[in-house]
Amino acid sequence: MSMTRFQALAELNTRQPAEVKAPSAKISDYFGANVFSPFRMREYLTDDVYEKLMECINLGVRIDRSLADHVASAMKEWAMSKGATHYTHWFQPLTGATAEKHDSFFKPLGDGRAIEKFEGTMLVQQEPDASSFPNGGIRNTFEARGYTLWDPSSPAFIVGNTLCIPTIFISYTGHALDYKMPMMKALNAVDVAATAVCQYFDKEVVKVNTTLGWEQEYFLIDEALFLARPDIAMTGRALFGARPAKGQQLEDHYFGSIPDRAMAFMQDFEQESHLLGIPVTTRHNEVAPNQFEVAPMFEEANLANDHNQLLMDLLNKVARKHQFRVLLHEKPFEGVNGSGKHNNWALSTNTGVNLLKPGRNPKSNLQFLTFFVNTVAAIYENADVLRASIATVGNDHRLGANEAPPAIMSCFLGDQLSAMLDDLEKNIKAGKMTPQDKIELKLNIGKLPQVLLDNTDRNRTSPFAFTGNKFEFRAVGSSANCANAMIVLNTIVANRLIAFKKDVDARITKGDDKDEAILKELQRLIKMSKVIRFEGNGYGDEWVKEAKKRGLSNFSDAPSALAIWKDKNVQKMFQTLNVLTPEEIHARYEIEMETYSRKRDIEAALTCNLAINHIIPSALRYQSELIDNVSGLKSILTAAEFKEAASTQLNLIKGISKEVNAMKKAADQVEMERGKANASDTEKQAKLFAGRIKPLMDEVRAAADRLELLVEDEAWPLPKMREILFTN
Ligand code: ADP
Ligand code: MG
Repeated sequence: MSMTRFQALAELNTRQPAEVKAPSAKISDYFGANVFSPFRMREYLTDDVYEKLMECINLGVRIDRSLADHVASAMKEWAMSKGATHYTHWFQPLTGATAEKHDSFFKPLGDGRAIEKFEGTMLVQQEPDASSFPNGGIRNTFEARGYTLWDPSSPAFIVGNTLCIPTIFISYTGHALDYKMPMMKALNAVDVAATAVCQYFDKEVVKVNTTLGWEQEYFLIDEALFLARPDIAMTGRALFGARPAKGQQLEDHYFGSIPDRAMAFMQDFEQESHLLGIPVTTRHNEVAPNQFEVAPMFEEANLANDHNQLLMDLLNKVARKHQFRVLLHEKPFEGVNGSGKHNNWALSTNTGVNLLKPGRNPKSNLQFLTFFVNTVAAIYENADVLRASIATVGNDHRLGANEAPPAIMSCFLGDQLSAMLDDLEKNIKAGKMTPQDKIELKLNIGKLPQVLLDNTDRNRTSPFAFTGNKFEFRAVGSSANCANAMIVLNTIVANRLIAFKKDVDARITKGDDKDEAILKELQRLIKMSKVIRFEGNGYGDEWVKEAKKRGLSNFSDAPSALAIWKDKNVQKMFQTLNVLTPEEIHARYEIEMETYSRKRDIEAALTCNLAINHIIPSALRYQSELIDNVSGLKSILTAAEFKEAASTQLNLIKGISKEVNAMKKAADQVEMERGKANASDTEKQAKLFAGRIKPLMDEVRAAADRLELLVEDEAWPLPKMREILFTN
């Protein structure tokens, strides 16, 4: 149901914070209550089955039919005890949203009775009608079959009365049609590569896990205002709206007290998150008005990402209960900050060591430096692929917009680590090292201060910053599936670590001892990747110039950023590491380009609709009133009096005509160019939307926003920015 601006504003006056009751006073009493966690499995499975299942999960081994039957039966028993009647395979197709198809446990027996049934085969594999999910040409239309396969490493959970089983989604031919499968493969690649490198330092290391701690930003706006703005309701962002007199310039929202209604909503979705085992711990206001952030304790990356996907669903669902709508778009409002999803990333071993945390002694510090320098070098080698991993239509508005990381990929290390790397670069001699050289270097590395953790200089303008014990990838968009960024980051780091191992081993074969070989290889990498390091202000124009001088890429829109996926060497890297085949990469490229065009096309169409059907008619009605006023004045005043009395009105009348004409002209061009774009092939279409149509849409908007400032407030049809951003 849509609303008028004034109906919406009237509704606002009736809003009250909803009452929220916690399941129990202590979160620990209900945390994970709706999850079939290892803890719960122990209760429902025999010791034998439990041990076998854990072994399969930890070693990534196939689960056989009889084991699956046991697990399925236990899962059903647990789920039914919680009131579940249905089950679904829960998966992450390339639409960006999660998907599910519910089936009942209930089975009629044909003799008038019925039973509840859930067997291993139903747990392990399903065949959803997959023909309407994006596949980028991988699945021929005549072969519409796709399969979902159980991911036992991510525990099943209950939402409402449905048992949800996390699964990967593949085509009949075995190609990935989702985010989860390549994500798991990339995590495996970095595990294998990092474990091999760890052997230089600690033979006990047999597994390296990726840890991911995301920080989710979002806007919360009232439902009535949302419904009165077709652009926001349909595209998630305001296509029109003059900047309010007050935006975020006073910086009074950041960390301010959370308004009551918003607080009730947060308590509610946090409780729902906790029931599902999502370890959310922090909540606060963000910089822009009505912008907030939620962040959990970090977890193993595959699970952390499932939790982020679930949380995004929860945000949307719970918001409706509170008559709010959540905007996950990267840039819903011009003139105030956009929303990101920082991905905090680190590697941790089965021995409990975070490989990106400086250690207490020279040996562990050399291990830290190895992973640290290789990560920086990986970003240097594959900055363009990393940029492509965050390229979306929404993020185009955010990156480089003076309040988000620039579209130029660079690494921020902080003073102390920068100095350490400079030191290593200079002080490792080219020739054979003497024992004294080695002792000195190691002592130096050993000095990597423990205080580093507390001391990290937090440069918030860098897209990829080291923050004491992890790297923080800040350029990820708020609506993104973290997997895209994680697939690329883990793959390029795996690729780098494999090369590192090979090069160090080669040096050892030639006669260097292990430490010397590692140090010399690190020195080479430090030199090689120097240009990717930047400690200054990433928002400044100087950086754009400087980056250009350094030869760093700066892709301002998604279609140009995505082109790197066509690079044969990039495809080879992903194939060699068994993450994505060239076919899968091509399909993803096609899907992302198509999605870009489709989303822009919807925005373009709405821009024209709202301009022609809402804004121009309202402006003309107000102009008619002015004209009435002017003709009235003319009939009662002398020529000289009239000239004086009507001058403001006449200027307004002319001003309105000018902007209306500008809007109409630009809108006509948008329509014409849309026609051309939509008749072009995928690549050309996306380029036209980015290069031609987007600037024309901006012209329509600019004229409309100027009109908003000319037209009487009462006559304006769409809720204004100040109403959307400052009511709660
Ligand atoms: P910020 O200053 O960026 O807002 P926060 O303290 O809010 O930082 O968030 C830091 C995030 O980093 C949290 O989500 C936390 O779980 C995550 N984090 C901390 N240590 C690690 C780690 N070793 N691996 C991955 N994420 C981590
Ligand atoms: Mg952060």
